[in-house]
Amino acid sequence: STNHSSLSSTQVSINKMYGRCRDFSDKVVLITGSSGGIGLETAKYYARCGAKVVINGRNPVAIAKAAEECQCISPKKYRALQIKADVTKEDDCKRLIENTIDRFGKLDILINNAGAGAFGSIYDPKLLETLERMINLNVKSIAMITQLAVPHLEKTNGIIVNISSTLSFKPNVHFMPYCVAKSAVDMFTKCIALELGPKGIRVNTVNPTAVRTNFQSATGAGEILDGVLKHLEQTNPLRRIGTTEDVVNAIGYLTSSESSFVTGHSLVVDGGSVYV
Ligand code: NDP
Repeated sequence: STNHSSLSSTQVSINKMYGRCRDFSDKVVLITGSSGGIGLETAKYYARCGAKVVINGRNPVAIAKAAEECQCISPKKYRALQIKADVTKEDDCKRLIENTIDRFGKLDILINNAGAGAFGSIYDPKLLETLERMINLNVKSIAMITQLAVPHLEKTNGIIVNISSTLSFKPNVHFMPYCVAKSAVDMFTKCIALELGPKGIRVNTVNPTAVRTNFQSATGAGEILDGVLKHLEQTNPLRRIGTTEDVVNAIGYLTSSESSFVTGHSLVVDGGSVYV
């Protein structure tokens, strides 16, 4: 209807304006999986807002390109630290934190973003294998990196944001292993928020619905997820698909002083689609 199309265009133009640039001057921000997608958009946001960013992924070419983009938009032309590391490997996670501290001397903000999805059904003979892979990549990696980062975050009144999903609380017949893993991310976050609050560390999740990134093809679910995106665009209350900027704006809020009384929270960024 006309009403819906006007709503949609307003939202699109708001979205095109980019989020406001909060002040992250000289904050050290480590974003896992920041060589592409939501992670790259997040790294660029912090770089633009004056932070010193750490770029991570497994592909050195993509990492170098992301680092260059960050340096270009950094007000003081800070060089981003590039760390090729697989977050499912313990030694790589150790190197991730050690190299960050060696280079910048501190850690203010940790964004646990690296992750991927997977299909899985109760009839799937490889279900346990898939579940293990999903837990290792989406949950264990976050626990490992967080454990290594906490001693440093204690010194800075640090902030953690874990990237979860609306699938953490919305069951989905195709993505059960991913739903299970993201559900664990939410509960992990809420439990450690209790423990880390008294240490001056806040920890929250951002739970986006489907946004267009490499996630769809990395999950091998291009067609199904394309259908999901079209469906969301037509049915959610805001009548548009979410973007990486929408997700980044939520991350920005949760790592700014404006959210200083918010911890253990899951911030859903889905255009209201969870209610339809
Ligand atoms: P992308 O596939 O576009 O980006 C994933 C990033 O993580 C890439 O930089 C990738 O680089 C990196 N990465 C993947 N595996 C590893 C690993 N083992 N070690 C280090 N880095 C790794 O996905 P998105 O940006 O969409 O996803 C980011 C987060 O958002 C994920 O946690 C995802 O579950 C979540 N999410 C995504 C949604 C979506 O629809 N896009 C919706 C809801 C949540 P490389 O492969 O080179 O290592």
